[in-house]
Amino acid sequence: MSIYTSAEETRICKDCSVAKNITEFVKHKTSRGGHTHRCKVCSRQVGKQYYADNKDDLNAKTREYYKTHPETKQVKRVYREKLKDERPEYVMWMRAKHRSTQRNQEFTIDITDIVIPTICPILGITLVANKRQMDNSPSLDRIDSTLGYVPGNVIVISWRANRLKNNATIEELEKICDFYRKL
Ligand SMILES: [Zn+2]
Repeated sequence: MSIYTSAEETRICKDCSVAKNITEFVKHKTSRGGHTHRCKVCSRQVGKQYYADNKDDLNAKTREYYKTHPETKQVKRVYREKLKDERPEYVMWMRAKHRSTQRNQEFTIDITDIVIPTICPILGITLVANKRQMDNSPSLDRIDSTLGYVPGNVIVISWRANRLKNNATIEELEKICDFYRKL
């Protein structure tokens, strides 16, 4: 336990010079207040830059490590499977977060915003957490696909239903139904 209790402290980032709450700084046990002097945003930037500058070297090292430690991949695989079995909402949340970072999308949902039902609310099929993504796998849908992962805009449906809907609007889906019904 840290004896440091001043969670309200504001600190100025040594990189961007912006005053931010201490919780916006990377945790570091031996630094003053248990946090570094570089904010999380700047730290990410530094990390990205470091990777970009040393990409080939780092990737070669990783490859070498896997070669000399063949068990690592298996350990990681087992861990991922276990995590998916035990905390499926967390895995879903994490993946969605990763996707939205890549797409530069809004992401403000909490893990508790993700509720995995036993049955797909659209197709009525039983949802099963398969190893691979299959028709009956649970899948996180953004109700309005023009919006990001924001509270109230996410629902878990089957992967098949999600694929069929894709980024269609309700109006478009109605048009498709109307068209095929009339044929
Ligand atoms: Zn900063």
